[in-house]
Amino acid sequence: MTHFDTIVVGAGISGATTARILHDAGRRVVVLEARDRVGGRVWTVRAGGSTLDVGASWIHGIDNNPLADAVHAFGIRTAEFTVGSYQPDGRPIAYYSPTGARLSDAAAARFSADVHDFDEGFARTIADSSPRTSFGDAVDATLGRLDWDSDRLDRVREFLGHRAEEQLGVGQEDLDAHGLDDDAIDGDEVVFPDGYDELALRLTEGLDVRLGHVVTRVHWGDDGVVVTTAAGSFSADRAVVTVPIGVLKSSDFTVEPSLPEPVSGALDRLSMNAFEKVFLRFPIKFWDENVYAIRQQGEAGRWWHSWYDVTLDGRPTLLTFAAGPCAQETRHWSDERIAESVLESLRGVYGDRVVAPDGVHVTRWQDDPFSYGSYSYMTVGSHCRDHDDLATPIGGVLHLAGEATWTDDPATVTAAMKSGHRAAERILQRPVPFHEIWSPLDR
Ligand SMILES: Cc1cc2nc3c(=O)[nH]c(=O)nc-3n(C[C@H](O)[C@H](O)[C@H](O)COP(=O)(O)OP(=O)(O)OC[C@H]3O[C@@H](n4cnc5c(N)ncnc54)[C@H](O)[C@@H]3O)c2cc1C
Repeated sequence: MTHFDTIVVGAGISGATTARILHDAGRRVVVLEARDRVGGRVWTVRAGGSTLDVGASWIHGIDNNPLADAVHAFGIRTAEFTVGSYQPDGRPIAYYSPTGARLSDAAAARFSADVHDFDEGFARTIADSSPRTSFGDAVDATLGRLDWDSDRLDRVREFLGHRAEEQLGVGQEDLDAHGLDDDAIDGDEVVFPDGYDELALRLTEGLDVRLGHVVTRVHWGDDGVVVTTAAGSFSADRAVVTVPIGVLKSSDFTVEPSLPEPVSGALDRLSMNAFEKVFLRFPIKFWDENVYAIRQQGEAGRWWHSWYDVTLDGRPTLLTFAAGPCAQETRHWSDERIAESVLESLRGVYGDRVVAPDGVHVTRWQDDPFSYGSYSYMTVGSHCRDHDDLATPIGGVLHLAGEATWTDDPATVTAAMKSGHRAAERILQRPVPFHEIWSPLDR
């Protein structure tokens, strides 16, 4: 059995970041990756002339963000698309009323102002909320203090429910009140016209990455770690495990001895979400010009309420999300049935102008055995610190990293990168400037 300094389990952005830093520091590192590709939940599918990011799309705020710095240093092309955090405004959005009429600019501005007013009170409600308050209860408590007519209350209540679903892939009653505490974005958001996957490819250049290595067991102890895969066992002084919490919670993956507190309690309280992307490519563009997104208000938009114009490569393309309850209910539907359901909603907005799509792509992250969902969220009763607690070093030899282990901005690629960087710093026992991640360019 070959012995390594460090085994990194998973070649997503967190694992790639850890391995990159340790490798560049002269450590002997191997990355064991179950899939036949690197990137994990950063995954670009190129088909029929289109480039679709079927995992992460956005950098949610490029200011003071080492992820954005890395992308810039690697020369990866980005495009501004500041509508990825369920903003009510800021960029042009075409709002449609419950009856399908486009809201005037003044009516849309009034609605957005209501959301901003709500948000101010909401922050206070959350700060004062008792433990085990759900996001939905906090919404209701905040709305209860507003002297608005029922229509205004309904529209904002609905928007907040959709925000929980679309941001975190969970119904607002199942999300802790603090579940979106870190929601503020710093600077513009950007997407990747040529695909987000280039980031993972650049990070893993020159590393010893073993694809197709499904890890089933990690044994840790005073002497280090032994990691079991169907292709054989690997030993090392230590391991950094970056598999999604959906995998960590499953019976597919065993840690022996089992994870101690506070890691185990944190893992119990965090959960994997239900969130899928639906891309529809069309031969022509039939929707509003010069808008970033289209939103349907009211019952007609219960499931499909937001469409994003992701015509990045010139092919008219809309992206919508099956999020939370919608993702759970449509999980076993065929792609055709899901597409038809989305088109039916689009017809409520655009009527006969809706044409048949010439391409449909539906993701299936809930059924992905190397993820079991799209990203983590805080169940009711969890604590913000659960994210960081999940990364508590175990026995000096085992580290967990990944989006779920980062408190400030969990569920993002930024979190994955920062958590991978933290694990490497802990192993090297020295601060590592972020730019060392991309400094190989200068060597
Ligand atoms: C549909 C979707 C949309 C998203 N949108 C955004 C967005 O717009 N912006 C954003 O910032 N974030 C977004 N995210 C979240 C973002 O993709 C993740 O937070 C981030 O990529 C996680 O990186 P990671 O390294 O923690 O985990 P992963 O990328 O999941 O990496 C873990 C790796 O471990 C591997 N693995 C799993 N099990 C095993 C095993 N048994 N043995 C060996 N290897 C294993 C996996 O294959 C994977 O490669 C989205 C995610 C999804 C799915």
